[in-house]
Amino acid sequence: MQLYNTLTKTIDEFVPVDGNIIRMYTCGPTVYHYAHIGNLRSYIEEDVLEKFLRYSGYDVRRVMNITDVGHLTSDADTGDDKMVRSAEREHKTVMQVAKFYTDAFFEDCRKLNIRKPDTVVPATSMIGDLIKIISVLMDKGYAYKAGPNVYFDTSKVQNYYCLTGHDESKLQVGVRDDVEEDTNKRNKADFVLWFTKSKFEDQALKWDSPWGVGYPGWHIECTSIAIKNLGEHLDLHCGGVDNIFPHHTNEIAQSEAYLGHPWCRHWFHVQHLNDKNGKMSKSKGNVLTVSTLEEKGYDPLVYRLFCLQSHYRKPLEFDYGVMDQMANVYKKLLASVAALSDKEAVNEEQKAAWRQKFLDTMGMDLNTASSLTLLYDVLKDPSLNDSTKLAVEEDFDQVLSLDLTKTRGAGGKAQDQVDDELRAYVEARIAERKEAKKAKDFAKADAIREELAGKGIVIKDTRQGTVWEKA
Ligand code: AMP
Ligand code: ZN
Repeated sequence: MQLYNTLTKTIDEFVPVDGNIIRMYTCGPTVYHYAHIGNLRSYIEEDVLEKFLRYSGYDVRRVMNITDVGHLTSDADTGDDKMVRSAEREHKTVMQVAKFYTDAFFEDCRKLNIRKPDTVVPATSMIGDLIKIISVLMDKGYAYKAGPNVYFDTSKVQNYYCLTGHDESKLQVGVRDDVEEDTNKRNKADFVLWFTKSKFEDQALKWDSPWGVGYPGWHIECTSIAIKNLGEHLDLHCGGVDNIFPHHTNEIAQSEAYLGHPWCRHWFHVQHLNDKNGKMSKSKGNVLTVSTLEEKGYDPLVYRLFCLQSHYRKPLEFDYGVMDQMANVYKKLLASVAALSDKEAVNEEQKAAWRQKFLDTMGMDLNTASSLTLLYDVLKDPSLNDSTKLAVEEDFDQVLSLDLTKTRGAGGKAQDQVDDELRAYVEARIAERKEAKKAKDFAKADAIREELAGKGIVIKDTRQGTVWEKA
């Protein structure tokens, strides 16, 4: 696969260290609030990448952290401790807040068909391990204690700015007028590995350490979780572009200082989802969530389609007009797939040729937009019988995860398994319910829903109309 690499700033042939195995690390969410659809753009693109690598025959081992402590990114991180503020707002403990928003995150992922990584590790479960790494960094002379905290000495590593190409004079840390510079640091870019005191006096979670009771900085959690679960060499590390500096820059510095050799070969970064006012951001508060989209009647997979029609390396502006177009496109696509008969034999040779086209398209720096075009090209190809078309659409959907067969009947899968009589009956009742709703006879509409539920049929109202499946 050809894939852009932030480290080399070129599209490189992606080659894992260890033959068929891919060790993939993903920076997970901070869990003081709901994930917004910007965060989820990054996770959708990473999901497509992971699934494409699996589809290409690799054995992907994917690990993700959950930032449930220590999200203090730099001196410029203003405001209060976000976990503590959420706990106060919601009358919960910090760990209850973390659990609630971690669960909410994976529920949003489920709705967007984002596969849960093989291993998910909360930062709070790693304190012992990361204390060991900090101790080694101290012993090797890469870390120092100054005032109440332990810092990483960025002057000790060569090429600290390898990901960004920044030079120190352009560094933002400590240069904004409203940011009080941390005078304990030896160099501007140094960052905290362990806090015993920060400007957030009421940090809730604290642990004992050789340097005093305190808590870890943000960056060290990813280093320790990645090394513990994936070993000393990573093939692929992912995140949104805002992670490039300082987070990933610092991860590289401390991981390579600790290991004594290069760490990760390939860095994959997703550009931001913006709104008219700029980057969608949890701390700015200009956020839309999956629930907002559902409340407005969109199937979450329409948002997945919205993301896939653009390239992951281009900023994407959220727009309801485009979402409406996508909803329409999605509806038509589902209808076309639903109309395919699966009675004939699949032509395996033709299927393999289309599979190769898909591999070539996605293999060119994850070109999801062109791979969506392939979905239509297949449907329009007069040389393919219906069953072959269906088999190819299902094949591509292993990666695109748009549930293309979901309106074909029970479970969205084998149409033949659904009794034709039952289908006709359910569809007639759904039509009656629609009429009842139009006439504002909601009691009748609800009664029809309940009657169908009694027969094991679940119906769901979406912007594309009412869909149903067997429970
Ligand atoms: P956070 O929970 O803020 O740590 O972010 C989780 C993931 O979402 C990280 O990979 C971020 O880089 C990414 N991210 C944050 N904001 C956006 C955005 N507006 N568009 C795309 N990705 C984002
Ligand atoms: Zn990280």
